[in-house]
Amino acid sequence: MSSSKPAVAIIGAGVAGLAAAIRMACAGRDVTVIEGAPEPGGKLRERHQGAYRFDLGPSLFTWPELILELDELTRSSIPNSPSCPERFEFTKLDRSTHYFWEDGTQLIAWSQPEQFASECEKSFGVNPILVKSHLEHSSASFEATRRIFLEQSLHDWNHDIPGQWGAVVKFFHRLPWIGTLHRWNQKRLKHPKLAQLFDRYATYNGSDPHRAPAMLHVIPHLEHGQGTFFPNDGMIGITRHLYGLAEALGVKFMFNREAIEILHKGGEVQGVKVSDNQQQQFIIEANCVISNADVWPTYRRLLPNLKAPERILQQERSTSGVIFYWGIEGNHPTLHLHNILFSQDYQAEFESIRNEGHPGDDPTVYINISSKVKPSDAPSGGENWFVMVNVEAQPEAIEKMIPMIRNSVIQKINRTLNIDLEPLIQNESFLTPSDIQARTSSHQGALYGASSNSPFAAFLRHRNRSTQLKGLYFCGGSVHPGGGIPLCLLSAKITAELIEKHA
Ligand SMILES: Cc1cc2nc3c(=O)[nH]c(=O)nc-3n(C[C@H](O)[C@H](O)[C@H](O)COP(=O)(O)OP(=O)(O)OC[C@H]3O[C@@H](n4cnc5c(N)ncnc54)[C@H](O)[C@@H]3O)c2cc1C
Repeated sequence: MSSSKPAVAIIGAGVAGLAAAIRMACAGRDVTVIEGAPEPGGKLRERHQGAYRFDLGPSLFTWPELILELDELTRSSIPNSPSCPERFEFTKLDRSTHYFWEDGTQLIAWSQPEQFASECEKSFGVNPILVKSHLEHSSASFEATRRIFLEQSLHDWNHDIPGQWGAVVKFFHRLPWIGTLHRWNQKRLKHPKLAQLFDRYATYNGSDPHRAPAMLHVIPHLEHGQGTFFPNDGMIGITRHLYGLAEALGVKFMFNREAIEILHKGGEVQGVKVSDNQQQQFIIEANCVISNADVWPTYRRLLPNLKAPERILQQERSTSGVIFYWGIEGNHPTLHLHNILFSQDYQAEFESIRNEGHPGDDPTVYINISSKVKPSDAPSGGENWFVMVNVEAQPEAIEKMIPMIRNSVIQKINRTLNIDLEPLIQNESFLTPSDIQARTSSHQGALYGASSNSPFAAFLRHRNRSTQLKGLYFCGGSVHPGGGIPLCLLSAKITAELIEKHA
């Protein structure tokens, strides 16, 4: 056994682990990141398949300011450093999603609210004022609640943020504290297809709109209030950029190294026991450990002697996904970067996911084609289709269903787009809940930690600072404030602030 003595050890180089590393290094700490995979990124990595390139996991990029903030922080920490990467580059898109229904209805969700509202009038005959006011409400609720629910710990109040409760109190009577997202959308929007479109935002954190709280109505603000973006190098550009910033700051990375235990004594963390791929073990001493691993394996595997927060660990998981990566022949002009082919009965689809594990024979299919905005991701005359359906986070059961799911996805695409897809598939691979669990330690392969299918979900996410062990912190999609790239970046920020506060 050998040892070194950095002040902060971070388990996992997912986006939150990378962001936490940047923040801690900027605060002058000596930081070591231990990562089981051979490269950084966690769920945010890439795959090459012949001449096609795919982003493996996340495809929707919102709230880029959170990355620019890390850029600024790094630049002010190491001004004029030649090793600092160029500023993060991304493009604002004019639309979020192209929506399709089997009866031939189509809708382009323009980012700009007026344009989106008049498109809704054209497709559904709904009053554009109704759509605009729905979006305005989403934005106002987001602004009223963000500081309390997203930008600070819910368990460790920061009394220094002035007026943090004022905004919530002022808007209190307009916030939907009870009821589901589906009821909120249905009641306000009246039109079933438009309600379905807004219901889909529950899936942005792996939840079911028919059970998730109406509070999730804040999510559309990210796309239509702030906008939808595309990193110029593809989604993998986010990982590369954060990794570049961390390296420039002198963060040490240990890849292909598995953290096997968080060491502690007398109620204080002492470091991390690490194993390399030859099963050699060694210790990284640290008085501060941040786990970016899912909170479930953090307790069950890395902290065997610590009392686990059972209520939190036993919460329902968010949905997982089955993703097909298809190199597709031809150009398909009705499709754009983000496309949704909706099922005809959304409620029945979610019930099927819950009861059977899969979405049934009429799934809602998401098709992401990054070559639409980054042509080098596919050879000329081809497109890189990332095709995903939601499934229950049940790795073993779903593994057996892949051929059936593949068939229902292809049939759905054929019916909705009037094409014959199978002969156009030039090469393929897929990703299952088992793969996601194996690659990232995400319990049951859930995409976003615990689901938000309960009105108390926001309060039941694991806290960012342990109250049992001094020096133990948590960041990433399975802890407060939740999953998805923006919230993971915020979790790293909250964690870094707590570390400074409790140092
Ligand atoms: C298919 C898919 C689609 C998605 N779509 C979107 C989207 O469009 N937009 C969006 O914002 N979000 C999306 N998400 C969610 C988003 O990817 C995640 O919320 C986010 O990337 C999670 O980051 P994280 O920091 O929690 O860590 P993770 O990405 O979960 O990474 C954790 C890291 O910790 C490492 N690790 C775990 N245990 C150990 C250990 N014991 N020792 C060493 N290393 C360890 C793992 O190897 C991994 O690299 C999607 C996710 C998936 C899978």
